[in-house]
Amino acid sequence: MTDHHCAYCDHFPAQVSDDTIDHFGPKGDERFYLLAYEWTNLYSGCADCQKVKNEQYDDALLRPDSDDFSFERYFTYDYDHHKIEVRGDASTADQDCAATTIRIFGLNRQGLTDARRHAWERYIGKHPAAINLLDFPYRFMFEL
Ligand SMILES: [Zn+2]
Repeated sequence: MTDHHCAYCDHFPAQVSDDTIDHFGPKGDERFYLLAYEWTNLYSGCADCQKVKNEQYDDALLRPDSDDFSFERYFTYDYDHHKIEVRGDASTADQDCAATTIRIFGLNRQGLTDARRHAWERYIGKHPAAINLLDFPYRFMFEL
């Protein structure tokens, strides 16, 4: 379903850390006990994202597979610093969701911004016909 990308940061888990299964609603939180083995609560991701998120949960946290989710709705991308930013012209509710998601998953942690910079530099040196975006992590950088 994720084309072997982390559901949260979009890198290839096997290239950055162990791949893992994250419980979106943490299994240690009594509100989500009954979802511990529920398919809709499980996301394939990298161990780095899971380690940062850990047992955190917030109702504003964005689900990467929501029908109404799109990167452009909630975020913009800073190509100078390779950071994901809250979209300034989004609704207040969408901005809250975006900020919460960035914070809980640590989507601007140092290792990620460095890795995005490397992926971007690898991308911009290629001829468009020679590019298969499925070979790249952080596809949101290229789909804007
Ligand atoms: Zn990740």
